[in-house]
Parts: sequence; C-alpha cells; structure tokens
Amino acid sequence: MPSKTREEIGRKFEDVIRLALERGFFTASSEIYGDAPAGFWDYGPLGVAMKRKFIELWRRELVKRDGMIEIDGAQILSKSVFKASGHLESFVDPIARCGRCKAIYRVDKLIEEKTGMHVPERLDLNEMKRIVEENGIRCPRCGGELTDYSHFNMMFRVGVGVAGADAYLRPETCQNIFIDFMRIYKTMRRKLPLAIAQYGKSFRNEISPRQGLLRMREFYQAEIEVFFNPSRANDFPKADALMDYELRLQPLGEEKPLGISCRDALAKGLVSSKLIAYYLALIQQFYEKAGIPREKIRLRQLGEDEKAFYAVEAWDLEVETSLGWIELVACNNRGSHDLGGHQEASGQEMEVLDGDQRVLPHVFELSMGVDRSLYCILENSLTAENGKAVLRLPPYLAPIDAVILPLLSRDPLTARAFEIYESLKADFDVEYDESGSIGRRYVRYDEIGVPLCITVDHQTIEDDSVTVRFRDSAHQIRVDLSDLRDLLSETLAYP
Ligand SMILES: [Zn+2]
Repeated sequence: MPSKTREEIGRKFEDVIRLALERGFFTASSEIYGDAPAGFWDYGPLGVAMKRKFIELWRRELVKRDGMIEIDGAQILSKSVFKASGHLESFVDPIARCGRCKAIYRVDKLIEEKTGMHVPERLDLNEMKRIVEENGIRCPRCGGELTDYSHFNMMFRVGVGVAGADAYLRPETCQNIFIDFMRIYKTMRRKLPLAIAQYGKSFRNEISPRQGLLRMREFYQAEIEVFFNPSRANDFPKADALMDYELRLQPLGEEKPLGISCRDALAKGLVSSKLIAYYLALIQQFYEKAGIPREKIRLRQLGEDEKAFYAVEAWDLEVETSLGWIELVACNNRGSHDLGGHQEASGQEMEVLDGDQRVLPHVFELSMGVDRSLYCILENSLTAENGKAVLRLPPYLAPIDAVILPLLSRDPLTARAFEIYESLKADFDVEYDESGSIGRRYVRYDEIGVPLCITVDHQTIEDDSVTVRFRDSAHQIRVDLSDLRDLLSETLAYP
C-alpha cells in the first residue's frame, strides 16, 4: 500500500471532525468559554444516537450472545479501592518540565513524536532522560532543556462531603466489577466462568489530551471481565463453535498480522487457552459487524514493556486509520491481581467453589474505548461519491434510520408526509424534512449516513406508494406504504 502524505492524513481526520462539528455528532465541551480544559467532549444528537446503537450492538454481540450479566456502578470510589488495585502507586505517566518556559510534557510521547521511536511508558525515568539527551530533544515550544523528570498519577482526586474525604473518579470501569464480584456471584447464583459487563464513564487526567475522541480525560468504556478457574481455561466447550474462525493475530516478533484459526493459534501456543481464544474471536467479530473490514483489524500482542502493570498476557485490538493503528480494546489476562488485591486489602473472601476446587478466580478482560471506536467507525465509513460525502455506516449503527421527504414543500404532500412520519416515529428513528430541493436533501442525509430516504410525491396521494432511495447505491424503488415497515426492518436488521 502506498504511504499517505501528511496532508492526506490531516484531511481524513479533519473531515471527520468537520462532519462531527457541523452535523451534531460531537463537539468540544464548554466551547463558549476561553478556559475550557482540553480532553472533554459533548455528544450531540447524532452522536448520542450512534453511540446508543453501538452499545446495543455490543450488548447483542457480546453480553447477550455470551450470556454475560451487566452492572452499572458508581463513578466515585474510595481511596482504598485504588490502594488495593495498585492505581495509587502505579497508574502514572512519565513527565518532564521545560527548564525555561515551564511547559510540561509526557516524555514517552514526546520521544515518540520527535524520533518515531516507541518508548514503553513503564521505562525507567533515567533511561528516558538518556534517550532525550542522546536525541537532542528539547522543549518544542521554546527550545529549552527538559528537567524535573517524575511520575504523574492520572487519577482525578475528589473531596467527598464537607470534610472533603479523599476519593477518586474511577480511571477504569472494571474496579466496580471486582469489588462487587462476590455479591453478584452469590445473588445471581452463577458458576465459573462468569462474565460481568459494564458500560459507563471513566476519567483520566491525561497530560496532553488531543486528537478529538482519541485521547480524552472523560470517556466511555464498555468493559467485560471474565472470571475463570485458571486450571480449567481449556475446559471450555463454548469455544468449539469458533475453533475455525480466523483471528487476525500479530504475536510478539511478527511485523504483520497472521490470519490464523483459533484452533491453530492454540496448537502453536500463541494464545494461552481456549477461553482466551474464544473471547478474542468474539471481540474481532464484533468489530467486523461494526463495519470495520477484517484487513484493518489486528490483535497485537504486547511485550513486557508495553503491558499494563497488572497484565499477565495482553493483546490490543487495533484498527488501522489515517492516523495509523489505533488501540480500541485492551484484552488483558489480569491473573489473580484484582480479586487477590481486594481480598487482601478488604479482608472480604473472594474465593469461590468451582466443582470440587476452591479457587481465587483469574480475570480475562475486554476493555473497550467507546469514543475512539466511534471515531474509527466514522472515519472508515466516510467516503466521497462524485465530490459529495457519503457516510456508509452499517444501517443498524446509523443515527437516523430513515427520513420522510415531501417532494415539494406544499400540501397535500407535506401533510401526507408528516402523517407517515408520525406513524413511524415511535418504532424507528425517523425524521421529517421539507426544506430545500429534493436533490440537496438527499445529499444532506447521505452525509450523515441515513440508509433510506422516503419521498412522498403526487402519486402517493393517488395510490399510497412512496419512492424509497437507498443511500449506498442511490437506487430508487417504488414501495406500497403497507410494505414500508417491513422494508425498514429488513434494511436495519443485524447481520
Ligand atoms: Zn519551553
């Protein structure tokens, strides 16, 4: 594939941002004020609708398909939680300050930007300092020398109550799942392996948030924590149906992803258990159904230096975009780190019976960044047709299902069209629009990915039929009103 020029890259990213701002997908938060901090975004009406449909697809393809259970936990958690989880000590980024202008930089990212060299964020600070000096990296703003290398904890601290007791906004949604595990396990009368899911907000005080939805300080995660008995991770019959499914696996040491079946990946020891192969397959299938072509997906194995501090085995699901490969889901085998840590710190028993064995469950997680997933889907769907933008979203992810358009802005066409809109709006996400020429309206709705345009004309008044235009082909057909609901349901159906 020919490499893209910088302008082309800018264009694709800028195109998505422009679409988002101009059409109401998302916008920078507090934008009317000059002191708006970076890294906070508001979803507009189209963004909310698309996010809701994305989460519904996640529920369908992961939570329901696998028989998981879902919780919705508090966002502010006690200090003890993060002491036990290791976040107070280890959830840190390496930073340095410019000796002259006092600007603060995240050192690993600065090195990456200036040299293209990948620096593990857990690398020793002295080692980072050495790389900075060897490569002559200086403050990008003023050219000053970097000093005061230190670690910065990325959790937002909050004061609870009048006394302002220390607590934190959760930096990942999964901690609720770990601390609630025993109660859920008992009340729901489940057995291992047990998967618990949660969709909600997390907060990280990023040092340099940027690139729109790709690095935010307040963001959505959809996380799944699978609790399992490590000695029975291969005793997992559910995986059998997916053994021939081809994973896009990029194990350590490989330059490119290999297309390899779950069966072969297990036989070659690339993936440590059937249970993990199965969940990697589920998450890859999910993104294929979200419209990302298979060849743009990879599951890249992380080395010791790249893994999160709690991970035993780690795969990142990444999607290729104009900005390079973007990590969307961290697939981590967290071992017994979480339940073990909370058991020790809280004194609460976390061991359960699995058949005749008493075990402290291990955890395999699929930790998804929702906002960045939406960005990748938007970028991948945004195409140009004869100089006009067409957003080719999978119909079940489109923010609006269909729009009802009177051919002309006059009665009886407008009254009839509005009636049709009224009859559909409770069951479908439909809109009504009578302003502008019909051609311009088609262009407007193609740009935001509406799969069907339904046009009401003079013939409608005579025989109760409408013209339906399909976004991707611009093909038009005549449909009886009595068949319209079926056509909508068919077009919007999940694969
Ligand atoms: Zn400076």
